[in-house]
Amino acid sequence: MSESFVIIGDGIAGSSAAETLREEAPDADITVITDEGEALYNRILIKEFAKGKLPEAPISIHDDGWYEERNIDLELNTLVVDIRVDEHEVETHEGDVLGYDKLLLAVGGTPQQLPVEGSDADGVHHFWTFQDARRIRESAESAEEAVIVGAGLLGIDLAAICGAQDIAGKYLMRGNSWWRYALNEEGAEIMHEAMRERGVEPVFDSGVDHFETDEDGHVTAAVDPNGDRYEADFAGVAIGLNLNTELVEDTPIETDDGIVVDQYMQTIDEDVFAAGDITRFHDVILGEQAQNGAWGSAKEQGTIAAKNMLEYGAAEFRWVSSYSITHFDFPFLSFGHPTLGDDEVMRSFGDDEWRRLALKDGKIVGGVLIGNLAPQSAYKQLMREQVDVSGQKDILMTEGFSVDDLGVEDAAAE
Ligand SMILES: Cc1cc2nc3c(=O)[nH]c(=O)nc-3n(C[C@H](O)[C@H](O)[C@H](O)COP(=O)(O)OP(=O)(O)OC[C@H]3O[C@@H](n4cnc5c(N)ncnc54)[C@H](O)[C@@H]3O)c2cc1C
Repeated sequence: MSESFVIIGDGIAGSSAAETLREEAPDADITVITDEGEALYNRILIKEFAKGKLPEAPISIHDDGWYEERNIDLELNTLVVDIRVDEHEVETHEGDVLGYDKLLLAVGGTPQQLPVEGSDADGVHHFWTFQDARRIRESAESAEEAVIVGAGLLGIDLAAICGAQDIAGKYLMRGNSWWRYALNEEGAEIMHEAMRERGVEPVFDSGVDHFETDEDGHVTAAVDPNGDRYEADFAGVAIGLNLNTELVEDTPIETDDGIVVDQYMQTIDEDVFAAGDITRFHDVILGEQAQNGAWGSAKEQGTIAAKNMLEYGAAEFRWVSSYSITHFDFPFLSFGHPTLGDDEVMRSFGDDEWRRLALKDGKIVGGVLIGNLAPQSAYKQLMREQVDVSGQKDILMTEGFSVDDLGVEDAAAE
């Protein structure tokens, strides 16, 4: 009998796993289950749709025919509500039960709501799905004033949507700068200035105490903890993701703000794997558990998981993740784990170029480049090869840095 694979989630992690399984196991039974109403689309591009810059069509990646051609059973609008690992079966919201030999959890996360009054009002948006993007675009097209909350990589997308839709925005941040865990004030100021140029004003030491609404339940303003009131007929909230671990709560599968897997994407149950944003994986570069929230990483984890579901140990996940911001007329790239580490080095080059590297035990574990991405491959190479760069921090920050600039002995990979 052919082996059966069930994949929960048709995001990039689940879908690339299905693709790899079919390529490497022509006779396998493969089922992909998603609670969304559409097959894989490009989640990275939905912000361009919400900005009004792209139509729907180019955002879709797979149509139903893609699955039919590969003899992959795609179940849309189907929520998996229970996993029974002893019986090797999953149950859907309609009570259907599917058996599996190997199961992949590629279930991602769900945006967190602000725990404040009015956060479920009409016009207050969270951003994860194509459906969210459709609602955001519709609401943004008629809005005049907005507040954005969440000083991170998704919050800035919402700010850019306001800019592109000619909405006067106030970007309410808790601290004194955007993404303060990865940037210092100088680096963040380049981003603040770019927001201001697009009509979005950063407001520091702020946040939301509560939203005000009109009698129809539509948002009208946000009031911050200082009592300052910001009128808004549109609000965008991006304060983080709740990873969808509740599915495995009643199983022995280990969770730790994510589903814990090894470098082969296997959970502690040998027949259950996980891939994509949902994982807390053993990062072989970092030498500890880590999490990524990026498209390229999720795609690679899906592929790696599939290979190991077919033959455990076939391929390990060794990856330097990247995340770029393309809203402005200068480039921005974050790579690796820029918020981790025990040391750092950073430098400004004039008013519009800045870079920072995060180091752990003398080795690069992540970084952020603003304005000039030329050294990115050198930094990523050093990170991937776990080169000890301690004692050479100044050289790392030279303008045209290349790996050859490092002292040969120190640059020897371990
Ligand atoms: C607006 C936006 C912009 C982004 N921009 C970038 C960017 O520029 N660069 C970058 O690298 N990354 C970006 N990301 C992050 C990137 O999109 C994610 O890291 C990536 O899509 C994660 O893929 P995934 O397959 O792990 O999870 P997801 O894409 O979240 O897929 C998980 C799927 O599982 C489904 N699911 C969950 N539970 C169940 C269940 N019980 N039953 C059935 N189905 C279920 C979900 O509905 C979802 O469809 C962005 C994300 C967003 C939202």
